[in-house]
Amino acid sequence: MLTYLAFAAAAAAADLAGAMLLTTAHRRGLAPLRYCVAAGAGFMLAAAFVRMLPEATQVPHAFLFVLIGYFGVHLFEHTVAPHFHFGEEVHPEALVDPAAGYLALLGLGVHTLFDGVAIAAGFMVSPALGALLSIAVFLHKVPEGFTIASVMLAGGHSHAMAIGAGAVLGVLTIAGALATSLVAEHHVGYALALSAGVTIYVAASDLIPEVNREGGPALGFTVFAGLVLFALADWLLTPLGAH
Ligand SMILES: [Zn+2]
Ligand SMILES: [Zn+2]
Repeated sequence: MLTYLAFAAAAAAADLAGAMLLTTAHRRGLAPLRYCVAAGAGFMLAAAFVRMLPEATQVPHAFLFVLIGYFGVHLFEHTVAPHFHFGEEVHPEALVDPAAGYLALLGLGVHTLFDGVAIAAGFMVSPALGALLSIAVFLHKVPEGFTIASVMLAGGHSHAMAIGAGAVLGVLTIAGALATSLVAEHHVGYALALSAGVTIYVAASDLIPEVNREGGPALGFTVFAGLVLFALADWLLTPLGAH
């Protein structure tokens, strides 16, 4: 339990780091993060399809829970929140109501809760799966922190509020991991199925559109680099325990 709490805490720190990076003068440092988003999308989809889904099918109706995870994120990020997309927010006109910032935080918060669930559920199955899912989370964590900070700033909130929003996402990641620790060992498949649905949504419906919008073949190819990175990590981690 201490292991996955440590990984969840590190992921939480990355949320905070992303939010702080956006509110400092070093915003030019954000450009390379687009490549993290692209590689993260490839890595997350590979982890979900190749490792999370097969493991989740050990519980009945696993794919129903995958579907609930997938559309749960859609519900909170794209219907409850009036305006949300991954990446730096450049549409202040869409966020005139200060509540829009909080609703975006709620939407991203639901996804973030499941970042913690994925890490904890992974470690409950095997150290190898836990480490793989931690990498999948880390790859998009700093961009996630700067996304929420930029939404808050675009909505007219202060720098302190923007950093606070990043901290809230971090706390929710840890809360997700803690909540999963209460799940009985033989029910962990449900946590994996839900978080697989969330992971697929975040990668395919939040991150990949961001990669395509920003454009450029180099960025597009980086998605495949994420697949290669996954294959490499999976191969290196296998001695840690059977999947
Ligand atoms: Zn926008
Ligand atoms: Zn996330």
